[in-house]
Amino acid sequence: MKLFKTQQELKKKLEGYSSKVIGFVPTMGALHKGHVSLIRKAKKESDIVVCSIFVNPTQFNESTDFENYPVTHDEDIKLLEKAGCDILYIPESVQDVYSNEKPIEVNLGSLAEVMEGANRPGHFDGVVQVVSVLFDIVKPNKAFFGLKDFQQYCIIKKMVAELKLDIEIVGCPIIREDSGLAMSSRNILLSKKEKVDALIISETLKFLQKEIKAGEISDLLNTCKEKLSAKSELEYLTVADLNSLQSLEVLEKGAIYRAFVVSRLGNVRLIDNIEIFV
Ligand code: AMP
Repeated sequence: MKLFKTQQELKKKLEGYSSKVIGFVPTMGALHKGHVSLIRKAKKESDIVVCSIFVNPTQFNESTDFENYPVTHDEDIKLLEKAGCDILYIPESVQDVYSNEKPIEVNLGSLAEVMEGANRPGHFDGVVQVVSVLFDIVKPNKAFFGLKDFQQYCIIKKMVAELKLDIEIVGCPIIREDSGLAMSSRNILLSKKEKVDALIISETLKFLQKEIKAGEISDLLNTCKEKLSAKSELEYLTVADLNSLQSLEVLEKGAIYRAFVVSRLGNVRLIDNIEIFV
């Protein structure tokens, strides 16, 4: 695996691969098996796999979250080597990423106004900004995103469509620990007790998935919210339409939806979601 610290050197290297299928996995580092699954999928579906590790300041709406974000470059490099990544970009500075930025305007519509868009003002503007800049540097044919951040995946697909970019956005399943906890870079910030309490998130999503029926869902949602609030500080739990991501109160038989949750354990904000068949 070759490591590049400047976009100039990276671009020069990538020029040599213009006839190859380039698969790209953007990350913020502190890598785990969830990230590795994206690299493996990219490896299967592309000739050259490029990964980036960049904790993008413009997508954080809480300065403490940004300051506390784990950085584990040495371990990340070992993990990526083992997973078969070909090229890694760890920019030496924030300026290196944004030095050639071309301002873009993307109409994300209501997709960015719900859930993470409503609760983390400016977050998706930062995500769209960094992903469009990274796409411009790497010029991938395919880019791989985890469905753990389902709303982000929908927004990147919308961005690519709006900007008419010729990039296939591939969604990859959520990787969980044996306990059910969705893998996350932020999990290493949890205390032992918080990590046990955090299981309420995946357990409640599974319970919701099992119990949900067509019709009104407010009673079931309230039960689930109580379960979550007993062990964590619930931000939101909602069942939404797969395309518009709008919250729903009444479900139709035979349809597929998705349930989304964000809850905090101490200072750590955890996000998860699950597919719902009615
Ligand atoms: P991050 O480093 O948190 O920005 O994540 C980089 C990419 O890895 C994003 O596309 C995430 O959705 C994805 N990802 C993070 N955790 C998981 C997981 N547990 N399973 C699958 N994908 C994940």
